[in-house]
Amino acid sequence: MVATLRSRCVFLGAPGAGKGTQAKKVAEGARLAHISTGDMLRAQVAAGTALGLEAKGYMDAGKLVPDQLIIAMVKARIAEPDAAHAWILDGFPRTLAQAEALDKSLSGASALSHVIAFAVPEAVLVGRLSGRRTCGSCGAIWHIESNPTRVAGVCDACGGALVHRSDDRPEAITKRLEVYRSQTAPLLAYYRDRGLLREVDANRPPEVVFQELLQRMR
Ligand SMILES: [Zn+2]
Repeated sequence: MVATLRSRCVFLGAPGAGKGTQAKKVAEGARLAHISTGDMLRAQVAAGTALGLEAKGYMDAGKLVPDQLIIAMVKARIAEPDAAHAWILDGFPRTLAQAEALDKSLSGASALSHVIAFAVPEAVLVGRLSGRRTCGSCGAIWHIESNPTRVAGVCDACGGALVHRSDDRPEAITKRLEVYRSQTAPLLAYYRDRGLLREVDANRPPEVVFQELLQRMR
């Protein structure tokens, strides 16, 4: 049993660092709202909304969706009742402009309490991303080598068909890692300067990383 955590935190790390999987697990175990901008955007794309159509073009090319679109979506999400006290932001902010906008929109009791940085060598990230398969029905994440389903292409959890997301294909992976290095990595210094950064070695088994996160988020 995991105690309820009252953190308002950002999970920061390159694509494939394990942020999404850990954010989901920590949020469920410690009763925080899991705010995944990737999941929110994919839901908009699936629903065919105007925002979804605009975002899809950027995502398919491995590019970042423009700041103003994401910021408005995140602010609306944090204002919902289940996110009143504690949340994990997963996939946002990804640029200095987004981080500054987030700081402006949060204050006092709702200000950020932690930023967790997931450290993983780049060669490991490429292997993780290229083998990743996502369930098109329930969103479960699998890996063709390290976490395969019993039947190839079929989700163990719900029987749904697995998809190789367009942004997990080789050309998009290379682009995503470049974008991370140039636009997101500078956030490490930004949050270190503000005394919020806590770095976690995420090149270890998921259960070990999970236990460390629970300690570091107190
Ligand atoms: Zn599934």
